[in-house]
Amino acid sequence: MSFHNYADIIIDISHENLDKTYQYAIPDELSSLALIGAPVVVPFGLGNRTINGYIVGLSNEPKISVDKIKPISSVIEGAPVIESHLIYLAYWIKETFGGTINDALKTVMPVKKAVRIKEQRRIVLIKKIDELRQIYEEQVKKNNRARVRILEALLNQNVLDYDKALQVLNISKPVITWLIDNEIIRIESKQIYRNPIEKQSSTQSRVTLNEEQESIVENILRDYNKGKRHTCLIHGVTGSGKTEVYMDIISEVISSGKQVIVLIPEIALTYQTVNRFYVRFGERISILNSRMSDGERYDQSLRAKNGEIDIMIGPRSALFTPFRNLGLIIVDEEHEGSYKSESTPKYHAVEVALKRAELTDAFVILGSATPSLESYSKCARGDYKLYTLTKRAKEANPPKVWIVDLRDELKQKNRSIFSRKLKELIEEKLNKREQIMLFINRRGFSGFVSCRSCGHVMRCSHCDISLTSHINNKLLCHYCGYEEGMPTICPTCGSKYIAAFGTGTQKVEEIVKREFPHARVLRMDTDTTKNKGGHQRILSAFSNHKADILVGTQMIVKGHDFPLVSLVGIIAADLSLYAGDFRASERTFQLLSQAAGRAGRDAIPGEVVIQTYHPEHYSITTAAEGNYEEFYEQEMLYRRLMQYPPAAHILLLLVTSKEEERADRAVAFMAEAIKDYIKTNKSTLQIIGPAPAGLAKAKDIYRRVIYSKDEDYDQLVRFKNYLEGYFSYSEQFVGCNLQFDFNPMSSY
Ligand code: ADP
Ligand code: ZN
Ligand code: ZN
Repeated sequence: MSFHNYADIIIDISHENLDKTYQYAIPDELSSLALIGAPVVVPFGLGNRTINGYIVGLSNEPKISVDKIKPISSVIEGAPVIESHLIYLAYWIKETFGGTINDALKTVMPVKKAVRIKEQRRIVLIKKIDELRQIYEEQVKKNNRARVRILEALLNQNVLDYDKALQVLNISKPVITWLIDNEIIRIESKQIYRNPIEKQSSTQSRVTLNEEQESIVENILRDYNKGKRHTCLIHGVTGSGKTEVYMDIISEVISSGKQVIVLIPEIALTYQTVNRFYVRFGERISILNSRMSDGERYDQSLRAKNGEIDIMIGPRSALFTPFRNLGLIIVDEEHEGSYKSESTPKYHAVEVALKRAELTDAFVILGSATPSLESYSKCARGDYKLYTLTKRAKEANPPKVWIVDLRDELKQKNRSIFSRKLKELIEEKLNKREQIMLFINRRGFSGFVSCRSCGHVMRCSHCDISLTSHINNKLLCHYCGYEEGMPTICPTCGSKYIAAFGTGTQKVEEIVKREFPHARVLRMDTDTTKNKGGHQRILSAFSNHKADILVGTQMIVKGHDFPLVSLVGIIAADLSLYAGDFRASERTFQLLSQAAGRAGRDAIPGEVVIQTYHPEHYSITTAAEGNYEEFYEQEMLYRRLMQYPPAAHILLLLVTSKEEERADRAVAFMAEAIKDYIKTNKSTLQIIGPAPAGLAKAKDIYRRVIYSKDEDYDQLVRFKNYLEGYFSYSEQFVGCNLQFDFNPMSSY
């Protein structure tokens, strides 16, 4: 290990402005103790009063003149470790994903932010009752009305709520002081934390695990108890009973005195899910979600730190719950894109979970119906241990899936957005008074160009990514910047039906109303759920059979159970297939699998219609068959061929500026500098771009991208560190901003 001469120290970690670090010198005798996260005592300010701080960075370069740098007084050993641990984690996040240490600390540390902890004060009687009666009579005689009022109340009740007493009895502070001074009462206060979980009793009885579930629980617990710490992936379709497996394992882990974090994507964090945990574990659980105020979130982290809860359930941010003795982290629906942070540091929750577990000797379990290629390939390599649940826990047959070729519909002169099959089934289900969900796959949709006659899609010859249409009749690749003109006839079949593709939810809703005038229709998309509670209102209306058809975006396919839904129609499966980024097929497979899983959840058998121009595409055929392994094999071939993750790693550089010229000049300059870097370092790094981002201009900010690729992640991290330094010193980047995204989840 090499020692450093200087340490960056942060003084107040619970403060809103985490921005300020101070540089101190590390005396030789402390150099082996001065590590990232270590609590230290330092002289501070003009008077050199000693205060506590934490080390958040180490270097050999002084930032100010050497004679102004004071030495660290001491490193506190054996201090509470949770803060040190989280600071180290923040440091690791900064190193691994980019951004500043302050960005990372803000992500990891609960922020006090002028939150007042609610205090409940009580007035407690400490005098004997006959003595109290005597005092009371004296005060009656003296006609001290305020004192009489409160003494009277105390004669009836020996504990009073402080605030209420003052208000209701109209008592002033001096009266209270008089009571305290005469040793009549004592004020007790206790902090009350806002508990976000609404209590709900339930008649749900405990299920008996089936053989598959039982064997997973046994195997994992055996390894856990032996001290093995390999990551596990549970692959099981929705409804196969993963949550029951988690709960049995959690139960054992907390009974050994350890704590558990359960990550669930916000969208799946429904009332039903939380309540299942509540019924099983009671008051010892808490939740986090984005609707909570900063104060509520801070309260929950205090409760965790004080040992008042054992289980924290929540999205990404729950990962930083300050448990002192963490035993297990579960990441449910591990493939979800929302586990990747959209703001700097753009960390991935699964990777941070693995790191936090490694630092605290905790165990990690990932679960999914459609595992990410990243995780599944780690199982294949033996890095993770794979467990599989093959069937739904409650007897329910998989739905019947119809794939409809939209090219045939055109040949049959059907230009409606509904194929004949879908129309026929909608009518049938409406007659039976069953429910229907129509799903428009708009995610990532950005105007790819395809032929309605033969299904040909315009692609970049360099990147094998769909080209997207732009206003000036140009087609553009958002990876490498390749450009060509918009064709007027299809290059494959010569048909003139070649155009940018697009159907919106609103349009579909209109058409549904026109074609099925007797059906009651609800629409759920970003427009209709803008208002608070809009989401829940639409779902419960549909759940109470206030509508026959629900039209919506991917929002409708996640986690909701509607027993009366017997038909799911996917209007255009292709939309997400050509979203212009390398994860398009994977996302399509996930969405189609989830959508299919919505049909026929209980007694009524379900049917699914997938409409597509590419009925032979493996994302569609494998999703229809529910064949994950086949999808995985096919998709990995593509990723290996193109060197996309997980076959290699990608680091995206996003350069933004208010001025288009600056942005263009900066990326061009950066591209040149990167070429030099590759040459001098004999690096294996590959560069694609620069190019305008898919979203080339947002809120008047111009966005340009460069993609870099390497099989070795560490190589990319070194490259990022180089660029960070280079960017901050070079004149060429004035007025520009640079962001990093490792293995991006979304298109830019
Ligand atoms: P997943 O998390 O894989 O979607 P869940 O654990 O939510 O699956 O289980 C789906 C449904 O099946 C739940 O209603 C659950 O109570 C029920 N279930 C799970 N395991 C069993 C079992 N062994 N016996 C009976 N019902 C079960
Ligand atoms: Zn064609
Ligand atoms: Zn390209």
